[in-house]
Amino acid sequence: MDFKSIIRDIPDFPQQGIIFRDITPLLAHPQGLTEISKGFQAKFADLNIGAIDAVIGIESRGFILGAPLAMLLGCSFVPVRKPKKLPSAVFRVEYALEYGTDALEIHQDAIAAGKRVIIIDDVIATGGTAAATAKLVEQTGAELVGYGFLIELDFLNGRKALPDVPIVSLVNY
Ligand code: AMP
Repeated sequence: MDFKSIIRDIPDFPQQGIIFRDITPLLAHPQGLTEISKGFQAKFADLNIGAIDAVIGIESRGFILGAPLAMLLGCSFVPVRKPKKLPSAVFRVEYALEYGTDALEIHQDAIAAGKRVIIIDDVIATGGTAAATAKLVEQTGAELVGYGFLIELDFLNGRKALPDVPIVSLVNY
């Protein structure tokens, strides 16, 4: 499946100068989620990173892509959420945005120490969100063994902000 021809480019959203990569047409395709999940599975298999115990999905598009991948891999799914959404005790990481800061949280008991996990999101831009999520994983004591992104914006070089683990992307701009 040619993902790029189905992803829709929306110029100047949410602000002037940004080309928003809209994945909703790909999600709407009857085979979209299946092909994305299989694409991740094949690329991670090529990397020989070994067993994956959990997929960590970043709110909210990381949930849409991460959950079917966890199902395909037969492993756990763990949500990383915006503040004040998770009901039990959390670890929290704050990270810088262009203006101000944001935060992400994970349940403290979401993953057992030593479990091997991958982080999934739709887009890596500057890498700030994915780097913050790695810090949350570290707090749980789990081992981060890879990242998967449907879309990588190469010109922003976001992978430079990430820890030194394998990074899979299915579409590059
Ligand atoms: P960043 O922390 O800069 O890597 O930004 C990543 C987050 O912002 C991802 O969760 C994306 O959903 C969103 N994002 C950033 N740039 C774009 C873009 N051009 N099109 C769609 N989503 C984007």
